[in-house]
Amino acid sequence: MTHLRVKLISYTPDPERVVCAAARICYSARDPLEVFENMGPEEIARTIRVVKQKGHLSVLEHANFTFVIDGCSRVCTHQLVRHRIASYSQRSQRYVKESGEDYVTPQTLEQDDEALKLYREHLSRSYELYTRLLGRGVPKEDARFVLPQSTATTIMVTMNARELLHFFGLRTCHRAQWEIRDVAARMLEQVKTVAPVLFEDAGPRCLSLGYCPEGYEECYQEVLKRWKQ
Ligand SMILES: Cc1cc2nc3c(=O)[nH]c(=O)nc-3n(C[C@H](O)[C@H](O)[C@H](O)COP(=O)(O)OP(=O)(O)OC[C@H]3O[C@@H](n4cnc5c(N)ncnc54)[C@H](O)[C@@H]3O)c2cc1C
Repeated sequence: MTHLRVKLISYTPDPERVVCAAARICYSARDPLEVFENMGPEEIARTIRVVKQKGHLSVLEHANFTFVIDGCSRVCTHQLVRHRIASYSQRSQRYVKESGEDYVTPQTLEQDDEALKLYREHLSRSYELYTRLLGRGVPKEDARFVLPQSTATTIMVTMNARELLHFFGLRTCHRAQWEIRDVAARMLEQVKTVAPVLFEDAGPRCLSLGYCPEGYEECYQEVLKRWKQ
């Protein structure tokens, strides 16, 4: 068994000032360093809201955020790495031997004793086979073919603010798969503490659109209740 950890470990210093300076440089003939150093919090907040509203989103790309995500399944990271405007470093199954102790259990299995027993038996057999193959000299990169998707992993991801807003729109959605939704929610919670204006309206797309793009009206009402609390 394993526990999910999601930690924002690094980010562009003063990310909102950097984004605002990028916007200001586009629209002003003032000295760029003077602009960067002398903008007050109100000007920064106002400018960020204007560029987001206008769709001048490239200026958001100057702010980067790096997370370590640990204890999620390879099911989850497979979805995560589909987001292309990002950088990833994931623990390699070619070089690192998997322990068999670290795996993710979906709640639906936790709630069903018989299903949970079958699940654990299957995982146990898979890891046993993995170990036997390694014991016969099969390299890790080949023995890993028998490992389950529930195997826990560690991944570092860096995304800029523009990509994060897009990612949150898709992955904090109530319709997203529960594990990546959990990861996205934890990422959002942390970036909000360091860049509250940049991420003030981040969340499922239905919040900004005013309807569910996937057509789940009931779910949209639930989301509204939860996010407005
Ligand atoms: C509800 C849902 C269901 C899904 N179901 C499936 C599924 O059944 N099968 C499956 O394979 N995947 C599925 N996915 C994954 C999905 O197809 C995307 O791979 C994933 O969401 C990454 O998002 P993205 O492509 O929008 O953007 P990112 O890769 O995060 O890129 C951000 C944005 O950059 C732009 N961009 C990036 N690369 C290009 C490019 N090459 N050309 C043009 N513009 C680009 C696009 O505007 C894109 O939205 C699903 C995703 C969701 C949210």
